Amino acid sequence: MPKILKINGLEKTYTSGSKKLTVLQNISFDVEKGQTFSIVGPSGSGKTTLLGICAGLDQPDAGSVELCGFDLNTLNEDERAQLRNKEVGFIFQNFQLLPTLTALENVSVPLELQGAKEAATHAKILLEKVGLKDRLHHYPSQLSGGEQQRVALARAFSNKPSILFADEPTGNLDEETGEKVIQLLFELNKDAGTTLVIISHDLDLANRTQQILRLKGGRILTNEPTAHFE
Ligand code: ADP
Repeated sequence: MPKILKINGLEKTYTSGSKKLTVLQNISFDVEKGQTFSIVGPSGSGKTTLLGICAGLDQPDAGSVELCGFDLNTLNEDERAQLRNKEVGFIFQNFQLLPTLTALENVSVPLELQGAKEAATHAKILLEKVGLKDRLHHYPSQLSGGEQQRVALARAFSNKPSILFADEPTGNLDEETGEKVIQLLFELNKDAGTTLVIISHDLDLANRTQQILRLKGGRILTNEPTAHFE
């Protein structure tokens, strides 16, 4: 299988004042196109930092990231943003919707900014798909956590990403609502072939992905296929 993400020798250190904190050390792994991949580890183990670097939102101190065939070290900020707009979707634990936009606008406005035609129609279809037909004109504050996360999912799917990064996508949801969100994510993987890279400390969720990378103290403990996918 071709690789959609190739990580080689990543190192990352944060400096605050005279203190240095090494957050990632000697991180190398690949994700195959269409794979479901999870990154697990205790709080503070470097998961979010790693995800940000994989998606080109943050820069490593050393090492390389090849995303969708592009070596991110060779791209400038604009080119990285273009690559993200075209190929990458994101979902965060705290949804990150714009509070002054309705559900529909949260999905359609980014599409319009990218020059998409019929953005509102496309956004409506996506929101219907995630079961929010009756919530199009609600603002985030008028939506439940599960509904907000489904808007975030519709937004993340809207550019038909090749790879979707999800940082604790069910972290703020109750079990039943979280399950619905996860099912939508796996449906996207199955129907559109979107690669999923999910950060979670929920081992049940990780066990449903094909490959699990375990991080501890910024290092890889294990990177193995999930038992039932071997
Ligand atoms: P996780 O997602 O596994 O909880 P993070 O990647 O968020 O881990 O954080 C790893 C470590 O890096 C933590 O100790 C955190 O406090 C530190 N850290 C994260 N972001 C920054 C930053 N911008 N500046 C300084 N330290 C940071």
